[in-house]
Amino acid sequence: MRSPSIRCDVVIQVRDDLRAMDGYHSAQVDVDVRLNTNESPVPPPDGFRDAVAAEVSRVEWHRYPDRAATALRAAIAEMHDVDPAQIFVANGSNEVLQTILLAYAGPGRTVATFEPTYQMHAQIARVTGATVVEGERAADFSLDPDEVDRIIDAHDPHVVFLTSPNNPTGLVEPPERVQQLLDRATGLVVVDEAYAQFADWSALDLVSEERPLVVTRTFSKTWSMAGARLGYLIGPTWLVSELEKVVLPYHLDAVKQIAGRLALRYIGDMNERVQQLVAERSRISDAMGAMAIDVFPSGANFVLFRPQAADGKTVWQGLVDRSVLVRDCSSWPRLANCLRVTVGTPAENDAFLTALDATLSTLTD
Ligand SMILES: *Cc1c(COP(=O)(O)O)cnc(C)c1O
Repeated sequence: MRSPSIRCDVVIQVRDDLRAMDGYHSAQVDVDVRLNTNESPVPPPDGFRDAVAAEVSRVEWHRYPDRAATALRAAIAEMHDVDPAQIFVANGSNEVLQTILLAYAGPGRTVATFEPTYQMHAQIARVTGATVVEGERAADFSLDPDEVDRIIDAHDPHVVFLTSPNNPTGLVEPPERVQQLLDRATGLVVVDEAYAQFADWSALDLVSEERPLVVTRTFSKTWSMAGARLGYLIGPTWLVSELEKVVLPYHLDAVKQIAGRLALRYIGDMNERVQQLVAERSRISDAMGAMAIDVFPSGANFVLFRPQAADGKTVWQGLVDRSVLVRDCSSWPRLANCLRVTVGTPAENDAFLTALDATLSTLTD
C-alpha cells in the first residue's frame, strides 16, 4: 500500500531556467522600528481614508471594474500634464515592469541593467525568459558612458533599465547621462522613478511619441500606499496600447482605482511629507557622517552607508538586537559591508541613530 503522505505520483519539474533562480528576499523580522523597505513612515491623511470609505460603500461589487481605469488614468495624466492614453496603470510598479518585459523582452531577447541597482529588473526579466546583461556602474555608482557604449555595442539590448534615484545607492542620474543612454540605445529605455519626488529632476520631460522611453512611478513610497499595490508608467501612446494587449483583463480592481484617484487630491500633504523626509535625510546623513561611517549621497527616502571599521552584517545584527531593522546589502556585488536605512519619522530616526551609535561602540571598543 502506498504511503498516504504521498499525494502525487508524478514529480513535475519547473522550467529549466527557473530551477537555478532564487526568489526575491527581504528579511522580515519582528522589531519596533522598521526602516528596511523604503515605505512612507506615515499613513495617508485622514481625509483620504474617509473619502475612500464613502466611495467604496457605493462600489458595484457584482460588476467587473472599469477595464481601462479611465478616471484613475485621467487623474494621473492631469497631474503630469500628459494625455491619459500615455498612462498605463497596474498592481504596483513591479507589475508595470513585468508587463513591459512580457511585451518587449521574453525568450530570445536581451535586457540590460547597470549594477548595482534594483534587483527586480533583472529578476522579472529572467522570469519572462529574457537574457539579462549586467553592466557595471562607475566607482561612484554613476552611469559610466564607456560602459553604456560597450553594453549597447556588444548586446544591442531590447530593453535597458535605469533607476533614478537609484536603489539601493540613492544616486540621482544626471540628465546628460540619461540623454546619452537615450541617444545610444536602439531598444526601449525604462527609467524607474520610484523615488522621483525626492530628487531634483525627472526624465518625464523627455517622454514623447517619437522616442522609445517610459518613466515608471509608484504609489508605494511617497503616496503612503504600499498596502494598495499601485503603480504606473508615462510613455508613448503606441507603447501603452501594446501593454494593454498583454496585461490580464480587469487586472486593476475597483477599490484600488478609487483609492489611487482619491490619493492624488492630497498632493499638497504629500509634498509636505516629502519636504520633511528630505530634511530628515540630511539630518541622518550628517549624524552618520560624524560616526566613522561612509555615507553615500542620496536623492531618495533612504540612505546607503558603510561602517568603516566594522563588518556590515554584524552591524545589521547589532541594530536588530536593538529592535531596528534596516536593509542588509552587504552581500550584494559591489556593496560589501553596506546597509541601507529608510528615512522614518524623527522618532524612528533617533532610535536608529542611537542604536547605530551603541552598536558601533560595542564593536570598535
Ligand atoms: C520600491 C520600488 C519600486 C516599487 O514597486 P511597487 O511594486 O510599486 O511597490 C519600484 N522600483 C524601485 C526602484 C523601487 O525601489
